[in-house]
Amino acid sequence: MALDTQAKIEVQHFKSYIGGEWVEAASGETFDVINPADGQVCATVPKGDREDAQRAISAAREAFDAGAWSGMEPEERKRILGQVIEKFAMAEDELATMETMQSGMTIRATSTFVIGYCINHWDYFANQSTRPTQEALEPVSYPTHSYNFALREPIGVCTGIIPWNFPLVMAVWKLAPALAMGNTCVLKPASNTPFTALKLAELLDETELPKGVVNVITGGGSTVGEELASNPEVDKVSFTGSTVVGRRIMQLASSTVKKTTLELGGKSPNIVYEDADMDQAVDGALWATFFHQGQVCESGTRLLLPESIHDEFVERLVERAKSIKVGDPMDYETDMGPLVSAAQLETVENYVRIGKEEGAKLVCGGSRITGDGLDQGYYFEPTIFTEVDNSMAIAQEEIFGPVLSVIKFKDDADAIRIANDSIYGLASGVWSSDPDRCLETAKALRAGTVWINDYHLLNCIAPFGGYKQSGVGRELGSYGLDEYTEVKHVHWDLGTPKPQKMFGVLLSE
Ligand code: NAP
Ligand code: MG
Repeated sequence: MALDTQAKIEVQHFKSYIGGEWVEAASGETFDVINPADGQVCATVPKGDREDAQRAISAAREAFDAGAWSGMEPEERKRILGQVIEKFAMAEDELATMETMQSGMTIRATSTFVIGYCINHWDYFANQSTRPTQEALEPVSYPTHSYNFALREPIGVCTGIIPWNFPLVMAVWKLAPALAMGNTCVLKPASNTPFTALKLAELLDETELPKGVVNVITGGGSTVGEELASNPEVDKVSFTGSTVVGRRIMQLASSTVKKTTLELGGKSPNIVYEDADMDQAVDGALWATFFHQGQVCESGTRLLLPESIHDEFVERLVERAKSIKVGDPMDYETDMGPLVSAAQLETVENYVRIGKEEGAKLVCGGSRITGDGLDQGYYFEPTIFTEVDNSMAIAQEEIFGPVLSVIKFKDDADAIRIANDSIYGLASGVWSSDPDRCLETAKALRAGTVWINDYHLLNCIAPFGGYKQSGVGRELGSYGLDEYTEVKHVHWDLGTPKPQKMFGVLLSE
């Protein structure tokens, strides 16, 4: 590994990117970005307000209406979007370090996985710029003979509002497909983690992308976020975040009937049947829950186990969980870093208290970690509750931290019933050596993604999104690209003589 993990970046000031210019907030105000590893300020960014959001939206609107991007030959768009890939690859170490500093994700995760994943996805979407945009429909003779086809066109100004858990991945998921389909964008990163999105804007600024096509602006959800979701000049809003804010976005977008894509929360079930490969399933259950400190929307936070293997499985799970090394995320040996913020730490502590009060049995962890230089950071132990009933708050509500709820089931039907008993339906896992059983269960689960004998893996071609209150619409793959297009039907009359035209419905001879 070539990465120098000691090379911490100095406290930097970043600016927002509007209309191809680097700008401060109109008010001149800024806010601090805290490194969750040590509670220290690691950067400052402009504290944008509605006025700044309006400027960014106007820039995107003008760029779209001028047609320099939407009207460009797809091959040319693909070429320009492709220009960022090499820059991305060259900035890999710096981006990985920045991502770790602002979010607390381990350097092992950011450097071996996250940045490469972003490049892979950007590359996929850039290449999709040339996907066919015209689809011939079957010939019809009723009501008259006509040739019909559908065109896929850009929607216009697309805004993206993203959370703090995967700041750079989320920025790529919002910008790349929107741009590939010819839209212009305004992106608002989460206030906890604003600067890798700005770094991405810096890389894009070095390409031939016309000014105003991409705008990245920092500021609060209740100001900048609300403007991006409600401004009449915005055609589509794509939001990733909590279900509570998702409901609000939908409401705001309704005022001008904007298209919306919502990727929201989850409380995903992970079912292990007794015929699963136990070694794999134990590690798989830990991976499903504790990756990135459990701050993943599709984390498998409800582990469903049959009575027959429950005790042995839990014993192995706890033993293995205790070997997870929690500490400085910049240390390559660290398995789990800090939670993203003091507020998130408090939320997790609260839920652990609630779990105990509800009568669940705490069998692993449950406390904040201090000492050994970790006092100023937001570290929490991998935590496991057993004897959880699915009606408890720790089984129904998203905690977004390293807390696993283990729930017993009687048979397959019971497992599926419990799994589906949730307001969420983002993802799920099934572990078994019986392919039929895996498939039957996968079909019965009310969730947007099902992993069989694996967990967490999303790729650029497979649709991602939620059933029920986990969201609306899909991201990634052709499904995700479709969400960034308007569909136009063109009807072409094939020379119908006037007497056979439908005019007679209105006009008599
Ligand atoms: P959040 O509080 O919902 O915030 C998400 C984004 O929305 C942030 O940029 C936030 O800005 C902004 N925001 C807040 N209030 C707003 C408002 N009234 N109007 C417009 N924008 C507003 O979520 P989070 O705490 O950052 O992230 C955790 C949540 O995201 C979890 O629920 C998780 O499940 C979900 N998530 C879902 C997916 C998925 O793909 N389904 C992926 C990752 C995360 P500020 O940061 O400035 O407050
Ligand atoms: Mg932070």
